[in-house]
Amino acid sequence: MSEQDYGFDTLAIHAGAQPDPATGARATPIYQTTAYVFDDADHAADLFALRSFGNIYTRIMNPTQAVLESKVAALEGGTAAVATASGHAAQLLVFHALLNPGDEFIATRQLYGGSINQFNHSFKSFGWKVAWADADDVSSIAAAVTDKTKAIFIESIANPGGRVNDIEAISEVAKKAGIPLIVDNTLATPWLCKPFDHGANIITHSLTKFIAGHGNSMGGIIVDGGNFDWGKDGKYPMLSEPNSSYNDIKLYETFGNIAFAITCRVLGLRDLGPAISPTNAFNILTGMETLSLRMERHCENTQKVAEWLEANDKVEYVNYAGLKSSPYYDLAQKYTPRGPGAVFTFGLKGGYEAGVKVVSGVNLLSHLANVGDTRSLIIHPASTTHSQLTPEQQSKAGAGPELVRLSIGIENVDDIIADLDQAIG
Ligand SMILES: *Cc1c(COP(=O)(O)O)cnc(C)c1O
Repeated sequence: MSEQDYGFDTLAIHAGAQPDPATGARATPIYQTTAYVFDDADHAADLFALRSFGNIYTRIMNPTQAVLESKVAALEGGTAAVATASGHAAQLLVFHALLNPGDEFIATRQLYGGSINQFNHSFKSFGWKVAWADADDVSSIAAAVTDKTKAIFIESIANPGGRVNDIEAISEVAKKAGIPLIVDNTLATPWLCKPFDHGANIITHSLTKFIAGHGNSMGGIIVDGGNFDWGKDGKYPMLSEPNSSYNDIKLYETFGNIAFAITCRVLGLRDLGPAISPTNAFNILTGMETLSLRMERHCENTQKVAEWLEANDKVEYVNYAGLKSSPYYDLAQKYTPRGPGAVFTFGLKGGYEAGVKVVSGVNLLSHLANVGDTRSLIIHPASTTHSQLTPEQQSKAGAGPELVRLSIGIENVDDIIADLDQAIG
């Protein structure tokens, strides 16, 4: 039986990993080293010229990182992957490979707040321009395409949770424009959603969240779908044109369906530098072995909490795509049939005061700015992440004064509900 035939749970444990050839160690060791001894001078020269592939320096490649990369590529069904220090570093490397100064990309407004900041502010200083479109209105994405547009960026399960995007419809827009669709699959993980099956070309993750799962390590990853023609019209010169920092090699011509991942590694990681530490790669690998078990429990608990909240008379609304009342229910059945994740929002009839009361009153839930931990997490955006905005601006940003966001953990669900019950009062 080849690795391709194994099921998801088997791959999550075994893909990319072998017993250590030097010691027999069964778990993947933490290769805590900066550099690697060359066999001889020819070997060194071949590595530096990309004539052969191997470890040179941990900023570019490391054996612990490599197991993580193979595992995530296998679970997503991609051709190759590149791990990075964080989810945001993965996004930076993706756009670095695709955009020149003056180029544009389209992103949907319904994104992780940190990505909105990265795209609006820091990317500006690279001369990259983001055009915002509405994820619920695919025609607004098509309307934003110009001759400078080089990519479309969306989330599968979109922030602040409880929404699912129509990946296939959006991928049609990308195909028509001859540009790649990038999907941030962080909130879904490949266990809930497989964006490459629906037309995505590149997947990014914050491994920091559900994939690592324990709230103890930062990481990110880029997965290459191997399904985009980078050579067609000279739109992506970093991939298609001779590269003077590698003896004028043409990366797409040389590396074919793994060329995007190679570009992010040998130019992105080499020159921009956001490598994941071997120890964090190890922690994330350990977390991944139980990914499907955790996601199953995350979704089961979240469905029960969302249903309980919907029946609570102090609650005005619940935004969770697992509820029949959600406008995203049908999309969730199609794209995330095992459940639309564990992050969602609800609104309290008591407005701002009631939101502050809940986050102040919880005991088991942790009041903090993160998602995707084994622990249940809660935040009231109007008094924290969105406190600088007016109430009208908060509502427009989908973070009105009454809104509370939850990331449901894998504790006993009765304990989670009891804690929310006493905090809502
Ligand atoms: C957290 C997050 C990111 C950023 O990842 P970091 O690892 O925090 O840099 C990107 N996208 C989504 C959906 C996230 O939740």
